[in-house]
Amino acid sequence: MAGVTWHYVLKFIITGDAAVGKSSLLIRLTDQRFLANPDPTLGVEFGSKLITIPEEDNKVVKLQCWDTAGTESFRSITRSYYRGAAGCLLVYDVCSRPSFVNARTWLKDVRQHADPHLTCILVGNKVDLCSEDTHGPMRRAREVTTEEAELWAKEEGLLFVEASAKSGQNVEFAFEQATKDILVKIRNGVFDDDRSPGVKASKPSNTNLTLEQSAKSSCCA
Ligand code: GDP
Ligand code: MG
Repeated sequence: MAGVTWHYVLKFIITGDAAVGKSSLLIRLTDQRFLANPDPTLGVEFGSKLITIPEEDNKVVKLQCWDTAGTESFRSITRSYYRGAAGCLLVYDVCSRPSFVNARTWLKDVRQHADPHLTCILVGNKVDLCSEDTHGPMRRAREVTTEEAELWAKEEGLLFVEASAKSGQNVEFAFEQATKDILVKIRNGVFDDDRSPGVKASKPSNTNLTLEQSAKSSCCA
């Protein structure tokens, strides 16, 4: 697929309480690293990453991710970034019950301000903290069971995964799951270029598609 840059650009937002690990998940996705003391997010930060989805004809998708601040004082700014998003990571900390309870409010916010067709994945972050391999002062008690979160996600029509920005477990997987779901929606006409500002497809006039076609012909030669 030499030369193919992307087939789709999708806008993602990452939301949830302060300190649940939103910025850390984004840094893990884009830079494959983890910071014990990341800078606090003031307003909104941005990161982008190319991923390939084998199940969707090897489509190359550029994720444009807006990482929002989880504090009340920035809510009015972050809300304006919800608009047009195709995907959302709704993050809580599995060792913080309040962050899970507050996910309801964040979801309400997203539903009020974002595209009603947006794909949302609930992400229970920091599973490394309560894993059996973690000992000593680092270890924390789990406050939200997998079953409870899974059930709530199902009730609300959200995808669900538990992850760790620290170990990297399921981070890329979370974005991939949401992306796959969005690609299916695009295929079914739920999202399209004209109506959905957070979804852009490469155009025939765009060199990307020419390159896509040449990649296809070479694969069938
Ligand atoms: P944000 O406010 O939601 O963006 O949260 P940050 O990404 O700034 O993370 C808040 C704190 O939690 C930082 O000290 C991170 O190092 C830590 N953190 C984030 N994700 C994880 C994780 O998966 N495991 C552990 N152990 N710590 C994490
Ligand atoms: Mg942050």
